[in-house]
Amino acid sequence: MEDCIFCKIAKKEIESKTVYEDDTVIAFRDLSPQAPEHVLVIPKKHVKSINELTSEDTALMGHIFTEVLPKVAKELNIAEGGYRVVINTGEDAQQTVKHLHVHLLGGRKMTWPPG
Ligand code: 5GP
Ligand code: ZN
Repeated sequence: MEDCIFCKIAKKEIESKTVYEDDTVIAFRDLSPQAPEHVLVIPKKHVKSINELTSEDTALMGHIFTEVLPKVAKELNIAEGGYRVVINTGEDAQQTVKHLHVHLLGGRKMTWPPG
């Protein structure tokens, strides 16, 4: 996707503070952190949101949830204390960047319900 900011980050056309990367996934620090630790985990391939995932993405999303998120949480030292994982999807959830991304937030006590 030509005008997608997260595709550009994945291709290193835009700089980001990368905390993890492999063939299919990149994780980088959010530009406007909402917690002491705030990382975005994205598939390198362009997928707009959860709504556009297909059965071909099962391994990719499984990889993000079973391997990447716990690994990054551990490296950020928030695995034990706890953290929040958020995927804003669509307008009501205020998804601003239309490239699927998983927010990983930690390092402070979260509140519930979210705003
Ligand atoms: P959303 O509201 O779509 O769930 O979250 C988008 C997130 O991307 C926001 O937290 C915002 O701060 C972050 N963001 C937007 N543009 C950039 C950017 O160019 N670089 C980085 N690192 N984060 C960005
Ligand atoms: Zn994209």
